[in-house]
Amino acid sequence: MMLKVVVCIKQVPMVTELPWDASTGSLKRNMAEGMMNPACKHALEAAIQIKSRYGAYITALSMGPAAAEEVLREALAMGADQGILLTDSRMAGADTLITSHALALAIKKECPDFDLILCGCYTSDSETAQVGPQLTEELDVAGAAYAADIQIMEQTVRIQRECDDFLETLEMETPCLITVATRQYMPRYASLSGLQDAFEKGTVKVIHADDIGMEPEISGTKTSPTRIVEVYSPTARKKNIMLKGTALKMVEMLFEQFGDRLSGAMAKDIKTHDHDDEHDEIDNE
Ligand SMILES: Cc1cc2nc3c(=O)[nH]c(=O)nc-3n(C[C@H](O)[C@H](O)[C@H](O)COP(=O)(O)OP(=O)(O)OC[C@H]3O[C@@H](n4cnc5c(N)ncnc54)[C@H](O)[C@@H]3O)c2cc1C
Repeated sequence: MMLKVVVCIKQVPMVTELPWDASTGSLKRNMAEGMMNPACKHALEAAIQIKSRYGAYITALSMGPAAAEEVLREALAMGADQGILLTDSRMAGADTLITSHALALAIKKECPDFDLILCGCYTSDSETAQVGPQLTEELDVAGAAYAADIQIMEQTVRIQRECDDFLETLEMETPCLITVATRQYMPRYASLSGLQDAFEKGTVKVIHADDIGMEPEISGTKTSPTRIVEVYSPTARKKNIMLKGTALKMVEMLFEQFGDRLSGAMAKDIKTHDHDDEHDEIDNE
C-alpha cells in the first residue's frame, strides 16, 4: 500500500536578526530573502527515504506568504510529489496556535487519508518547537518528537527518539505525526535538473483560508493569543576579576562572590555543602 506522507515546511528569513515593526508587533520579514527552514529539510529527507524504502506519495505543505511557493518547489526538486501552499493575508501575524490550526484544516481538506505527518523539530525564526505537538492535538493523532530513525511496519511506526543522552524506542499506530531530529536524515541537495523541472513543471497548489473552511472570526493578528512585547538582542556583559591569595583563600572568595548563583545553577546550597575527604587533600597541597 502506498503511504501518504505530508511534510510541513516553513519558509524562514535567511538572516537571524530582522528589524522589529512596533506598529504590527512582528518582525519585518519582507526585509530578508526566504529559505527552507533547516530542520524541515531533515523531515523532508526522512520522507524521501521512507518513499524509496516503503513506497510513498509525499505532499509538501507550507503556510506562508506567496513567496513561500519557492520552498515548495525546492521540496519538489528534492523528491516531494506535490506542493500545497496555504496563503492568505488573514494568516499574517499568526502565532503557533493559529498556524497549527490552519495547517490541520489544510491537511483535513487536502490530505484527509494521510498515514504520516513529518515536521521539523523547530524553526530557525521562532524556534518554539510547538507546531508539531499542537498539530497532533488538532488532528487527534499520536505523535512523537525528535525522531532519529523511523521504521514502518504495516500500520505501525517504530521510531528511535533522541533524548538527552540516550535513545528511546517508541511505537505508534498510523495515522501519526513525527518531528524529525536534526542529527539524522542529512538532507540531500536538489539537483540542478531537479530544480529546473520543479520550477518549470512541478505542481504547487495554492489554497486560501476559505478553501479550508477557516472560521471567519479567526485571523493571525487578532486571534493569536501570543503577543510579542519586545524583541531585542541580549548584550553579553563580561567583567574580569583578579583573585589574589592562597588557593583556599581564592576558593573562599569565589564561594563568597558566586555561591548564590552556583547554588541556583546546581540546585543545591553549595555554601553549606559538607566537604568530603577528596577536597581536604587538595587544600593541604
Ligand atoms: C505575534 C506574532 C506574529 C508573528 N508574525 C509572523 C508572520 O507575520 N510571519 C511568519 O512567518 N511568522 C510569524 N510569526 C512566527 C510564527 O508564529 C511562527 O514561526 C509559526 O507559528 C511557527 O512557529 P515556530 O516557528 O515556533 O515553529 P516550530 O514549532 O518551531 O516549527 C516546527 C515545525 O513545524 C512546521 N511548521 C511551522 N510553521 C509552519 C508553517 N508556517 N508552514 C508549514 N509548516 C510549519 C515545520 O515542520 C517546522 O519545522 C509570528 C509570531 C508571533 C507570536
